[in-house]
Amino acid sequence: MDFMYYPQPLSDLIIAFSRLPGIGPKTASRLAFYLLRHSEEAQQLSDAIATALRDIKQCTVCGNYTDTDPCKICTGERRDKSLLCVVEQPRDVVVLEKTGEYRGLYHVLQGVLSPMEGIGPDQLNLSSLFNRLEGVKEVVLAVNPSVEGEATALYLAKLLKPMGVKVTRLAHGLPVGGDLEYADEVTIARALEGRREL
Ligand SMILES: [Zn+2]
Repeated sequence: MDFMYYPQPLSDLIIAFSRLPGIGPKTASRLAFYLLRHSEEAQQLSDAIATALRDIKQCTVCGNYTDTDPCKICTGERRDKSLLCVVEQPRDVVVLEKTGEYRGLYHVLQGVLSPMEGIGPDQLNLSSLFNRLEGVKEVVLAVNPSVEGEATALYLAKLLKPMGVKVTRLAHGLPVGGDLEYADEVTIARALEGRREL
């Protein structure tokens, strides 16, 4: 890189951008120079990041991102509290909400089991799942159909079934190895409707 030609704060900014997912060194320097030229937009971005970091927390019940704790879904009066859907990431909640087909509650793992990356049960938002099963009749495992997702689903099913709760998995039809967020709403709604018991 050309960092030796840049003032330190500028190279720091470029490096910070290049650490973000999907942003290579060229895009990183383009963004940094753009922000230097557009100070008002740069300030808005900086403020938005600071505010989000300050105000967004993980819901202590479900693990989703929220600015109220518990979150609006956990406290929603019209939600079906007998149905609990386990997802990997907060953005999967948005995907399922957008189908308009699901009225139950969620539990966000904030990842999946991945021995290769050193992610075991303790690194996930798991223990709180087992503490909130009272009144829950069915747990829908909506983790992604990846190798890690399948392993996580089997692990959870093994622990949940002896607790007397029905455990289901989203039907296939989702792209294998793909993420929920890349599937369209109709596909997700169908996968939800055709969920099968594990
Ligand atoms: Zn919540």
